Amino acid sequence: MKKTIWLIDIDGTVCEDIPNEEAYRFGTAKPLPGSLAKVKELYSKGDRVTFFTSRTSEHAEVTEEWLNVHGYPYESVCYNKPRISDDEEYHWIDNKSVFASFLPEGLR
Ligand SMILES: [Mg+2]
Repeated sequence: MKKTIWLIDIDGTVCEDIPNEEAYRFGTAKPLPGSLAKVKELYSKGDRVTFFTSRTSEHAEVTEEWLNVHGYPYESVCYNKPRISDDEEYHWIDNKSVFASFLPEGLR
């Protein structure tokens, strides 16, 4: 069975939804219930976990500090995901196998 590389959004998915304009809140973001347990479960079964976020690389220090303090296991964080508005959607095209999940209320 193939391992999965999880690309997990941060804002609105593992913690409260904070826009980059309010980056001063990143350090005190509230984790969403169940998100820590879910990420730990994925990681502990041997899958790979990368966070994929629209936060920019200038937010790397506060973001990774927050992930570490709260105990989220991960191998890397990809910054600068294109920001999206409510009348847009992501669609990923790749020559490798991709699955996507829309999780409006977090990883529960
Ligand atoms: Mg988000």
